[in-house]
Amino acid sequence: MTQLRELLAVEAGSFRLDKVDPRGTPGLPDSKAVRKDPKAWAREAVSSIGTELAAYQEKLFASAKSERTDRRVLLLLQAMDCGGKDGTVRSVFAGLNPTGVEAVSFGPPTDEEKQHDFLWRIERALPAVGHVGVFNRSQYEDVLVVRVHGLVPEDVWSQRYEQINAFETAQAEAGLTLVKVMLHISPEEQRQRLLDRLDDPTKFWKYNPGDVDERARWDDYQEAYQAALTRCSTEANPWFVVPADRKWYRNWAVATLLRDAMAAVDPGYPPADFDVEAERQRVRALSQGI
Ligand code: ADP
Repeated sequence: MTQLRELLAVEAGSFRLDKVDPRGTPGLPDSKAVRKDPKAWAREAVSSIGTELAAYQEKLFASAKSERTDRRVLLLLQAMDCGGKDGTVRSVFAGLNPTGVEAVSFGPPTDEEKQHDFLWRIERALPAVGHVGVFNRSQYEDVLVVRVHGLVPEDVWSQRYEQINAFETAQAEAGLTLVKVMLHISPEEQRQRLLDRLDDPTKFWKYNPGDVDERARWDDYQEAYQAALTRCSTEANPWFVVPADRKWYRNWAVATLLRDAMAAVDPGYPPADFDVEAERQRVRALSQGI
């Protein structure tokens, strides 16, 4: 494990969400450039990590084409309202090839989804082999909003932690690298972001009056997050909590976690399954025109 993974990973036994400072910046390099202008430094760093991500993505895609891998990578994002999921995706995925990326958002289940087990829609949305996926919300809504609002009885939601663990373990064995990130914001920051949305007509579309009602349940949500993070942080599929009040730190931390996960997967470029020299001769022998 690299240092940032260690700093941000949830230790199932001892983790306390209320001890994580949403304005914190753990693992930030201690350098002159960072001290001088952390925002500018992070912008540069995220852009150069993006180049690395794009290279890993191409190799993953190429090795799947030649059927040499069952690997796929999924970044799963959860957060309180205004937590910055969309902004993180925009920043971290900026340099990737859209052909190999699958982004999925989960809202309240549709009538069809309600006919099935809660993991049905999740399994269908997993990235294909060779692809990188990103989930904006996830199976965890079924132990978060569902728990807080009592949308199903407690004896139903309380079994879901183990069901999620079993599901994620089976997917890991089937080649899925899952990077689970909670973007952790403070109530003050959420309030400010809601006000910012009301001050700017180009952000009205992001404003949801329902978010203000949900805000009244802040403590219940924190409790539900605490349970999900500790009960579903496993060896194969740990949770990471990223302090997210500072957007520049959040983007750098998530990009770094994803880069490190992809570096661990790195399947390399597949070798040619044809005779390169023979093919070169055939192409050289072609006439220049038709
Ligand atoms: P976002 O806030 O992620 O930008 P939306 O405004 O469309 O997107 O919100 C999605 C809504 O869907 C959230 O209020 C969330 O709680 C709800 N939701 C997601 N999954 C479930 C679920 N399994 N059951 C009930 N509600 C859900």
